Amino acid sequence: MMMFQWLLHRYHKNHKKACYPSPVVALPFLFLVTGLTSSCSKNPLDAVFKRPISAPQPSCGFLQNAYGERISWKTNLPVRMYIHESVPRQFVPVIYSSMKHWEGLSKQPLFQIVSESYRDSGQARQDGFNVIYWVTSDWPNTNGKGSHSSHHPKMEQARTTVHTVGNQIVEADLRINAQRFDFYVDQPKSPLSIHFESLMIHELGHVLGLAHNEHSPNDIMWTHLLPLTERTQFSEENRMAIQCEYN
Ligand SMILES: [Zn+2]
Repeated sequence: MMMFQWLLHRYHKNHKKACYPSPVVALPFLFLVTGLTSSCSKNPLDAVFKRPISAPQPSCGFLQNAYGERISWKTNLPVRMYIHESVPRQFVPVIYSSMKHWEGLSKQPLFQIVSESYRDSGQARQDGFNVIYWVTSDWPNTNGKGSHSSHHPKMEQARTTVHTVGNQIVEADLRINAQRFDFYVDQPKSPLSIHFESLMIHELGHVLGLAHNEHSPNDIMWTHLLPLTERTQFSEENRMAIQCEYN
């Protein structure tokens, strides 16, 4: 078995007026990909290292594995997702609408919500279930294995962890950092409130396998989301990305 991991982590500081409770606002999304490549041969390393290396695929905005292959759910759609019971009920319809938003770019259903009030320990872990968690305490202190970030993980707005086998996503868990940030549907509660749908659309992009967009600050997959900012409009690049893997 060969293991490899990516961690994309970007960080932004925004100095606000002194009347706000905190002088520093950090606005990172975080995206963690854990890749697991396994084989059924006698020596589990054989299939990995003897695998022919072909020319890399165009990324189409997706993460790629060590062989240059795009990482996605392939034909294993829709992604069956569970909303943890910890998610406040007013945000549940937003999760639906965020999923529908992505599906407008595809000819097939991309997401299915299996449960709106899923119960487990509340701790994201690799268990075969794709779960959206609302985290109000004990946000991870670490960036995760493979991270090269020097920024503090407590300043993440959300973290999406994607588990892969080869070029196939097999599980994705999404954590919302409600310990550090507050989120709104229509009416912001403070000058620092984060528009939940904008955040959710971005994170669901990661669930689908999309990487950060590093060159278009207005893009949904751009790394940062400022408070009170609604960013829900897809670009042609987003459309082409989805059609590349999920047409
Ligand atoms: Zn992100």
